[in-house]
Amino acid sequence: MKLFLMVMIMIFNISAYANSSASILLYHHVSNKTPKSTSISPKLFKQHLKYLEDNNFNVLPLEQIISSLKNKEQLAKKTVAITFDDAYKSVLYEAAVLLEKRSWPFTVFVNAQATNANYKHYLSWNELKTVIKKGGTIGSHSYDHAHLVRKLKNESNKDYENRIYNNLKKDKYIIESKLDIKIKMFAYPYGEYNDFLKKTLKSFSYYAFAQQSGAVGHSSDFLAIPRFPMAMNYAKMKNFILRVNTLAFDIKNVNVGESILIERTIKNKTFSFDLKIKDFYLNQLACYSFGKSLKLTKTNKDGFVNISMFLPNWYNGRKKINCTAPSIKTKKAYYWYSNLWLVKKQNNKWYKE
Ligand SMILES: [Zn+2]
Repeated sequence: MKLFLMVMIMIFNISAYANSSASILLYHHVSNKTPKSTSISPKLFKQHLKYLEDNNFNVLPLEQIISSLKNKEQLAKKTVAITFDDAYKSVLYEAAVLLEKRSWPFTVFVNAQATNANYKHYLSWNELKTVIKKGGTIGSHSYDHAHLVRKLKNESNKDYENRIYNNLKKDKYIIESKLDIKIKMFAYPYGEYNDFLKKTLKSFSYYAFAQQSGAVGHSSDFLAIPRFPMAMNYAKMKNFILRVNTLAFDIKNVNVGESILIERTIKNKTFSFDLKIKDFYLNQLACYSFGKSLKLTKTNKDGFVNISMFLPNWYNGRKKINCTAPSIKTKKAYYWYSNLWLVKKQNNKWYKE
């Protein structure tokens, strides 16, 4: 009996402390001289790394984290991955220097067109080879960084699909041949995706990364993996600390409805998902859009709770709903899930960005 109790206590402890969450950080420039909206200062970037080091975070290769989660394996507590989109010069000359010192891996998502064209702020193919030597892994970020979900004027579905397929294929082919590597990961430009993109990237056997916030976990969509953008206010230490300590909800049957909407026709459209209640109180679950709390309908369903809400009457632009709940066991840690919608103008045209 005593032995049985001991085994039970051990199992309980393992399950209580096992971790199935990771946070993925998304940076662009690490520089004081580039646009603020996509930059972090080298000073603040150093503070991020120091926090991760001082608090015993495990900075692991991105692909390894995702493969483990997809195979339902446990990760070490406090697991983080570092990623950079667009392959800017400062990734090599500021960030990689600091990461290499700690032997920390990182991933850089490349647009072959910008690298081929030798644009001022972008790394060359030779510089990308150096990035790899310093512990970087290269992923694809589309050939030309277009808004891949947007059909051209008068473009048929078939022509759209061919254009996008060729775009993705071209980036893969050029990067693989220039750097003599195999691409396994893709980051959506602007974090925008649709079912066709997901289907195509799946056919390439890629993992695909978006830009909505939240932790990645066992039940994540591995073709729309969340990342935390790190610039402006989000990169400040207080916000950074909150983000690297997030946990992934156990979630299924996510129903976002249409992910591309037209303003003024959103009324009565809903967003819903089934949530397993563990390590948080259901009454502390909150979902927000632009800081405004949304009214939730909660229905018990086979050990899960179905959470449903109406979408706000958004105007055109990029819109998100963030759902969070504080962890009971881990102090100051939050469960976090979010989703992105793109709302076109009333005349069915895309908003300018
Ligand atoms: Zn980008």
